[in-house]
Amino acid sequence: MTARFPPPPARGCGTAPVLKERGQHEVFCGLTGIVWLHRKMQDAFFLVVGSRTCAHLLQSAAGVMIFAEPRFATAILEETDLAGLADAQVELDRVVTDLLARRPDIRQLFLVGSCPSEVIKLDLAKAAERLIATHAPRVRVLNWSGSGIETTFTEGEDACLAAMVPVLPESDARELVVVGALPDVVEDQMLGLLDALGIGPVRVLPAPRADAGYGIGPNTVFALAQPFLGDTLAALTRRGARHVPAPMPFGAEGTTLWLRAVAAEFGIPPEEVDRVTEAPRARARRAVAQAAETLSGRSVFLFPDSQLEVPLARFLTRECGMHAVEIGTPFLHRAILGPDLDLLAEGPVISEGQDVDRQLARLRAARPDLTVCGLGLANPLEAEGLATKWAIELVFTPVHFYEQAGDLAGLFSRPLRRRALLEGAAR
Ligand code: SF4
Repeated sequence: MTARFPPPPARGCGTAPVLKERGQHEVFCGLTGIVWLHRKMQDAFFLVVGSRTCAHLLQSAAGVMIFAEPRFATAILEETDLAGLADAQVELDRVVTDLLARRPDIRQLFLVGSCPSEVIKLDLAKAAERLIATHAPRVRVLNWSGSGIETTFTEGEDACLAAMVPVLPESDARELVVVGALPDVVEDQMLGLLDALGIGPVRVLPAPRADAGYGIGPNTVFALAQPFLGDTLAALTRRGARHVPAPMPFGAEGTTLWLRAVAAEFGIPPEEVDRVTEAPRARARRAVAQAAETLSGRSVFLFPDSQLEVPLARFLTRECGMHAVEIGTPFLHRAILGPDLDLLAEGPVISEGQDVDRQLARLRAARPDLTVCGLGLANPLEAEGLATKWAIELVFTPVHFYEQAGDLAGLFSRPLRRRALLEGAAR
């Protein structure tokens, strides 16, 4: 059965003017990504070279600390390091040597830069090179930065994956790589769908282990499962791999169009995708329709935070009947977001970057039914009578592909229902 979706708008947001903001950001830093990345890479260890603040951030972002052997830690730069009185490189070598001696299970070690390590210009690329000379081939040592200066929290994953691309072996194999960390259950569903379409072998980046068992080359095609992977896209393209542009797999429409784009690469017609996906697509539609009863006709304003804003707005407007007032995104990467922008009907303000005061003024003037924003803004806005959704929750909750479409819509309908209940109780 052919999948039918609303036709693309006559004028999408792909050519709409973009309001460029260059003010203060109100977001978490890239270290946050370690919280989900360490779960995906089972033989990796993330050593943040930072301050006590970085250690606290990681600990609170990770929520309940893991009781088994952890796969991340912070090498704390003390005052003597920051004042240049101690040789931080020598200290780092000692910490790494102790760690690797204690933990023979570690096969990939990421040295993760932070604001303090950048301020004292601690060269972690040089440190990684030196440590490779000592610990390779048993351990692969890479570095990336999660520094909070002018970044947003999903950039950490991008920096990490981009650092991994150059060390993947060369390959001529015709293979699909799906790029972006997904919860295991969602990744299994995606692999099941691709397998049912006859697409394989399918590789994932990040792979669960250092020895990913695949390489990259001119016959590699890759699809992004997350929209915030601009540096990784560039790194893969430099290796000769080819990007398959597609809307992000959010909701029944996004998932179907993502699968159709990937399938087309392998000569599989859209009718076959529609046939194979009929049952999960119907389940997704039913689940979304339930939440859409609350969402339909309501307005939404998205602050720039997770970099998921554009595909989420596409999902909320086209599948849930919402009306977008403003769609803010920290970065507007057209090679990635183009297919989603084209599906979004012209009308909402598209803003890139952030000037939080000006954006709050626009929000207060519009008074939307729902505001998607960071934790720091949510509580004060709730106190002003605005319903909010924490953007970070969208990254920590399984939201991709068909089986999660209802949960994704539910994340937005719940705050509206809660506010309606509170208002009813107050009357
Ligand atoms: S990297 Fe910077 S922003 Fe992030 S926790 Fe450390 S000091 Fe704070």
